[in-house]
Amino acid sequence: MSNPYTADLIVVGGGAMGLAAAYYAARQGHDVLLLEQDAFESRLNSSYGQSRMYRLMYSDPYLADLAQPGIDLWNALEAEYMGAEQREEKRLLSRNGLLFYGAWSDEETIEGSLGGAAEVMEQRGITFERLDSHGLAARFPVFQDMPAQFEGLFEAGSGFVYADRACRAFRECAEQHGAVFRTGARVSRVQASAESVSILTEGGETLTGRRAILCPGAWANDLLEPSFGIRLNVELWHMVWAHYRVDPAWEKDYPQWFCFSSLPEGQNDPDDHGLYYGFPSLQDGQCRIKVGVDWTDSTCKSIDAFNYTPSEAIVNMLDRFVRAQFKGIGERLEVACSPYTMSPDVHFVLDTIPEHPNVALFTAGSGQAFKFAPLIGKLLVELVDTGKTDVDIKPFNISRLLAVS
Ligand SMILES: Cc1cc2nc3c(=O)[nH]c(=O)nc-3n(C[C@H](O)[C@H](O)[C@H](O)COP(=O)(O)OP(=O)(O)OC[C@H]3O[C@@H](n4cnc5c(N)ncnc54)[C@H](O)[C@@H]3O)c2cc1C
Repeated sequence: MSNPYTADLIVVGGGAMGLAAAYYAARQGHDVLLLEQDAFESRLNSSYGQSRMYRLMYSDPYLADLAQPGIDLWNALEAEYMGAEQREEKRLLSRNGLLFYGAWSDEETIEGSLGGAAEVMEQRGITFERLDSHGLAARFPVFQDMPAQFEGLFEAGSGFVYADRACRAFRECAEQHGAVFRTGARVSRVQASAESVSILTEGGETLTGRRAILCPGAWANDLLEPSFGIRLNVELWHMVWAHYRVDPAWEKDYPQWFCFSSLPEGQNDPDDHGLYYGFPSLQDGQCRIKVGVDWTDSTCKSIDAFNYTPSEAIVNMLDRFVRAQFKGIGERLEVACSPYTMSPDVHFVLDTIPEHPNVALFTAGSGQAFKFAPLIGKLLVELVDTGKTDVDIKPFNISRLLAVS
């Protein structure tokens, strides 16, 4: 008898999480179809860009315990993607370490705190260095004058993922395992019964699968409401990031960093919330670094209301911050605004849809999911296949975010 399904497993969403799920499912022998409404590597989604931090340095003990299993999976994917020839242009991780710095505080931000990260790393036996302002200046001469009250934590086991390359790696490896991808295929509705899942596309097609994995990112409520009559209590944050030209003499010296403070009084803007981050130069001949702001001055509830034009006020604060902190900063080359899908507790949603164990969902990446993409993809497949996962995912349950409509 012929297979009644279009595919055994249908994945909706071709950002990092959907691609990761498609990869692990195809690798396990599932017949996989992935539908993406846009093109891959779209500027509109949350996975867009060349780099994303991964780290062991967490104030949240739960995320701290997921970090190493996530890195182990990146290492395995990188080995598969680079192949026997070990091709450098296919490397997925830059293992350069990470510096947290700023005024010492235990007050938690969306990225943790210096005090919290030090405590959690100590509890877990993770080696790190604690540096005072003199130590920071000596170790990283690319900093301008370091405020005396600033301290730092350097952890060598962190780094960044070559994000666009990682998305290509998931896709190419998934294709090698038989997955099929379609772009320009917007899903307008999902209907599920105990035996099957029907996916209706905007083009009027109905596709059927035994199971589905939904990774719609910031578009989650647009899909969940017509499909299952549910809405999640998430907010979309406007996140500004930019590239700056740097002096070739300093190019190799920029660390990967996260600053938990605004500029000292007199230099700062009263509206500055003081959370910034940056990456080393990719050293790809472009002599530039990427820098971003980890707070926003505006949020919205629906992607239709999202404004991709960066806020001028925030861009000005970013300009001021990066020039005050680092030597060698030249012109700002480009600037972008991308969505964070934020949950109130900054944890993800990774669960099945209520009453539909054959439909799994990931959303609410909360500005920190990329580094966990392989782990999330693998867990989504386990969940939809068996109803359980190797890792405790209770903190990611959907019920905590179900909004009353
Ligand atoms: C500026 C910025 C910096 C960040 N920095 C870091 C970092 O350093 N480290 C880290 O770990 N994380 C970071 N994050 C977070 C991380 O990048 C995101 O959490 C992650 O990329 C989310 O991936 P996703 O696949 O869930 O969503 P997305 O990448 O948004 O993908 C969702 C996809 O689903 C598609 N889609 C939606 N609805 C439909 C539909 N109905 N039919 C078909 N397709 C649909 C969309 O077109 C989209 O391509 C950052 C995020 C941003 C924006």
